[in-house]
Amino acid sequence: MSVRVRFAPSPTGPLHIGGVRTALYNYLYAKKLGGDFILRIEDTDQNRLVPGAEAYIIEALKWVGIEPNEGVGFGDGKYAPYRQSDRKDSYRQYAEQLIQNDYAYYAFDTESDLEALKAKYPNFKYDASTRLEGKNSITLSAAEVAQRLANNDPYVIRIKLPEEEHVHFQDEIRGNVMVSTTQMDDKVLLKSDGMPTYHLANVCDDYIMKITHVIRGEEWLPSAPLHVLLYRYLGWENAMPKFAHLPLLLKPDGNGKLSKRDGDRLGFPVFPLEWTDPVTKEISSGYKQGGYLPNAVLNMLAFLGWNPGTAQEIFTKEELVNAFSLDHIHKAGAKFDFEKAKWFNAEYIKNLSNEQLAVLVKPIVTQKFGVQEEHYLIKAVGLVKERLVFLNDIEHFAYLFTSIAQYDTTALSKITAIQQQFPKQAFETFIQEQAFTDASSLEHAIKDFATANALKIGDVMKFLRTSLVGELSGPVISDLMILLGKDEVLKRVQNCLQQQ
Ligand code: GLU
Repeated sequence: MSVRVRFAPSPTGPLHIGGVRTALYNYLYAKKLGGDFILRIEDTDQNRLVPGAEAYIIEALKWVGIEPNEGVGFGDGKYAPYRQSDRKDSYRQYAEQLIQNDYAYYAFDTESDLEALKAKYPNFKYDASTRLEGKNSITLSAAEVAQRLANNDPYVIRIKLPEEEHVHFQDEIRGNVMVSTTQMDDKVLLKSDGMPTYHLANVCDDYIMKITHVIRGEEWLPSAPLHVLLYRYLGWENAMPKFAHLPLLLKPDGNGKLSKRDGDRLGFPVFPLEWTDPVTKEISSGYKQGGYLPNAVLNMLAFLGWNPGTAQEIFTKEELVNAFSLDHIHKAGAKFDFEKAKWFNAEYIKNLSNEQLAVLVKPIVTQKFGVQEEHYLIKAVGLVKERLVFLNDIEHFAYLFTSIAQYDTTALSKITAIQQQFPKQAFETFIQEQAFTDASSLEHAIKDFATANALKIGDVMKFLRTSLVGELSGPVISDLMILLGKDEVLKRVQNCLQQQ
């Protein structure tokens, strides 16, 4: 039987980076075993829907490069609909089947009925010990239930859990899990608006879509026993998927779940793409807009909760697929590490060819410094590639694309003395005479010039660096001279000589 896994987000806001990790682990597992990776949109809670969230989820998966081969927006629609609201009417039959088999019941309790029960019992939950006080098809006569249904009285359908039974299941990450039904409650399966709840829709869909493995966040572990019972009560136990509950993604200090607020507070994105809240218009930063490479983000996320069992840290997507297995997923929560995220990104940038990097930074450079010739841009990015942590860092290297607007005052003060005794005319002539073909001959020629004019080579370099970069750091000076070309170098040297 071929593996079928699903990522099943609810479109209640932008996809959190933890959700991207869940999607990634599903993707890796499916690809490793030659299976299918499905995107299902769980939108049964219509009150919490956020406009734009579904489109955002699809776009985010595309950007990081873990596209589902089936689901909302993907594939040939063999198991469609993949959006739960589009399947709304088909869940009721399962809820009614449960009622017929005495595994569920109608409950007509109003808000105030429930309030009264809550007031009567501290820590009230609707279960075997309290349901006999509710207005439901267990306590009401068959005639009254029929009457209420005929009157279209609002009702929900609740699961009928046994009073005390131990529910066992095997979690691929956590091993044997056991929960007593005394810890559970008669969850609503079908709501008064006719919509299924998450639990019913999730189980029905996993069954209908022939899902073999449910790989999802640990926050769903408490729901799993209920799902196991639903499979049993619906007669689908033999088709029940295997469960794997992933460790939580924690704040950098390990103190609780990573939230949007941590990102705002500590200055890193928690969403793959920038997101504008449709109501408040508040903008949250995204990895894409922050200048991250999608493969670096995937590599970083893969390690938040999994390790390959070797010292290798940089993995292509294909290597991740080959190395991935559920038994190397950790049980303990994974602390988000912003420094490590930056390290991954810098490594990925270093590993790009100059041509690839030029393509990626072109929009940023064009916007900031105007259009550059392609071959120039390729050489320019090559000079600073090692210094980029984010693609956007290219903005800090204005001297590659424009003349020096402002000189660093420390650099200027350091070269004042040099400038006074500098053989200006001779130096300009010297530059005019150079071929500017290769950096090492240029470097030798500069050294010879210094010796011939009784100048310290270090002083000449300081002067050149200040002229060409505007400060005392930057790439190898002869490389930069070759990049800028004779005319631009002369212009910058003359300009710097005028600074006092
Ligand atoms: N709709 C759930 C969520 O938003 C999915 C849980 C599951 O994968 O079963 O995370």
